[in-house]
Amino acid sequence: MDLINIKDLSFSYEAKKDVLKHINLQVKKGSFTCIVGENGSGKSTLIKCILGLNKGYTGEIIKEKHIGYLPQKTDIQTNFPATIEEVVLSGTITNNIRSIFYKKEDRENAKNIMQKLEIYDIRKKCFADLSGGQQQRVLIARSLCATKNLIILDEPTNGLDPSIAKQIYELLDNLKKNENITILMVSHDIERALNYADTVIEIINGEITYSGNPAEFKFGGAR
Ligand code: ADP
Repeated sequence: MDLINIKDLSFSYEAKKDVLKHINLQVKKGSFTCIVGENGSGKSTLIKCILGLNKGYTGEIIKEKHIGYLPQKTDIQTNFPATIEEVVLSGTITNNIRSIFYKKEDRENAKNIMQKLEIYDIRKKCFADLSGGQQQRVLIARSLCATKNLIILDEPTNGLDPSIAKQIYELLDNLKKNENITILMVSHDIERALNYADTVIEIINGEITYSGNPAEFKFGGAR
């Protein structure tokens, strides 16, 4: 079963034409897919199209209704003046858009997720005071509040020490294996992506140049 099915997707920004060209792509339920490729090749643009943040594309995107999202890191995110618990709970808002109050079931769900990700005991701590790796763990928990099926992450290990980055990959791998969470992530860390992903998609200059298992992947479209 596919949670995402993209048919002949093309996209231009007003200031930049043909950023994505005739993309066809499926994300299977239970898979761990890494999108790789050089900076500026269109990876973030693709996931923003999937999430509905980029409008005006041509082609078709059929997708799972509830998707958790971890955007690329920004200063606003890292300095966010809220507790861990508040940040995690805010992930439920996408499912609860008409109400400014969290429902009991949302709070229960957030509690379970925080327990699984081992951040429940520190839930009253300020998000801004956490290390980069801990912040990403909290933001993964936040993305899980929006979905039981699929999370999309944009370079979640950017700027982290290699040992911490490894922990994040292991956490995602565990979510896939133990919770049946499907993972679609953009990664600049090819080596680790090849280690953990079961599907690799390479985008060069707005086109898919590889889609398949990591074992046969050669970087740079050299096939
Ligand atoms: P990647 O994620 O692979 O680094 P992006 O999807 O961010 O690549 O960018 C693809 C291309 O689109 C780049 O040339 C980038 O400069 C351009 N681009 C990204 N966002 C915008 C925007 N909002 N307006 C105009 N051009 C953009």
